[in-house]
Amino acid sequence: MSTFSNLTARGGLFVRFLQLSQVSRTISSSSSMKSKQSLVGFIGLGNMGNHMARNLLKKGYPLVIYDISKDSVKKLQEDGAKVATTPAEVASQVNRLVTMLPASAHVQEVYTGNNGIFSSVQKGSLLIDSSTIDPSVSQEMAKLAQGKGATFIDAPVSGGVNAARDGLLTFMVGGSETAYNLAKDLLSSMGKNVVHCGTVGTGQAAKICNNMLLAISMIGTSEAMNLGIKLGLEPKLLAKILNMSSGRCWSSEVYNPCPGVLDGVPSSNDYKGGFGTALMAKDLGLAQNASTVTKSPSPLGSLAHQIYRIMTNSGYADKDFSSAFKFLQDKKLNS
Ligand code: NAD
Repeated sequence: MSTFSNLTARGGLFVRFLQLSQVSRTISSSSSMKSKQSLVGFIGLGNMGNHMARNLLKKGYPLVIYDISKDSVKKLQEDGAKVATTPAEVASQVNRLVTMLPASAHVQEVYTGNNGIFSSVQKGSLLIDSSTIDPSVSQEMAKLAQGKGATFIDAPVSGGVNAARDGLLTFMVGGSETAYNLAKDLLSSMGKNVVHCGTVGTGQAAKICNNMLLAISMIGTSEAMNLGIKLGLEPKLLAKILNMSSGRCWSSEVYNPCPGVLDGVPSSNDYKGGFGTALMAKDLGLAQNASTVTKSPSPLGSLAHQIYRIMTNSGYADKDFSSAFKFLQDKKLNS
């Protein structure tokens, strides 16, 4: 049995993939799904969703948007997006809808709550959730969507806010081949890679493995930068050497956590924007659940989870996750 089906079989909450095999029959015709004339819905316009929605607008997709934060819809409204007052109001006007929300509970609320998407979703709609959430919740949403004659796929992203801004995200898609093919045009307008991972939930499985590795490498990069600086090395020189040596990784090269090493990354902007520490702690929790269910040892993932949980409860929750570097410099840890 594969690791993922193992996860599915043991998780209890997971629905059977076979129930989803009928999914392709419920999606609208491919021509209306690929059209740039009809409105596309977008819910969740935070650090990532705002850029993603803007890229859809730039590529000529008319949008109807919703977010609980009035500030986050303002700029997109000025740029031509229509604003709705509830998720239901979005769903009633579209046959394609993207959600980009913080965590599983927000996705459940937006889809199944009062005035949620499922209260007004049109038959044949394609619902694309790009949030990083528990794979079992994606599967639960897919089953509920099927009951409404719609199709739900998971399409979490990797790449960070700059990749979202530049349309360079990687989408990891879980859903039927038909749904994947229909989502591809829309997703390609926001990213450079759109990868079909398998049935619903497998996009999330790929995403949580990636983020567990990212968290471990970010903490490792922060430790190496902090130690090197204390040993008297100039930060930019140290980063340059790491990036031409075997310690090189995305965290050292593209998203260095030490302020001043790179321009245009959160570490050089007091760790504002970017990918919040609380969100990273959430993803590491998802990876730990999956490790437990599949009996996969992940000791470094577990340690990274604890470090990000402590940071979350120590004033770093809303700072970018590269603030692990700043956390290590905390006086309390350096006495
Ligand atoms: P964020 O907190 O900046 O944005 C989330 C948005 O959802 C906010 O604007 C918030 O107001 C809105 N929201 C919350 N509850 C809502 C509700 N009930 N109805 C409507 N809107 C609601 O988060 P983000 O950084 O944009 O991340 C979104 C998702 O993408 C998360 O699952 C995260 O793990 C994942 N992700 C983030 C990054 C990153 O670098 N920030 C990278 C990859 C993946």
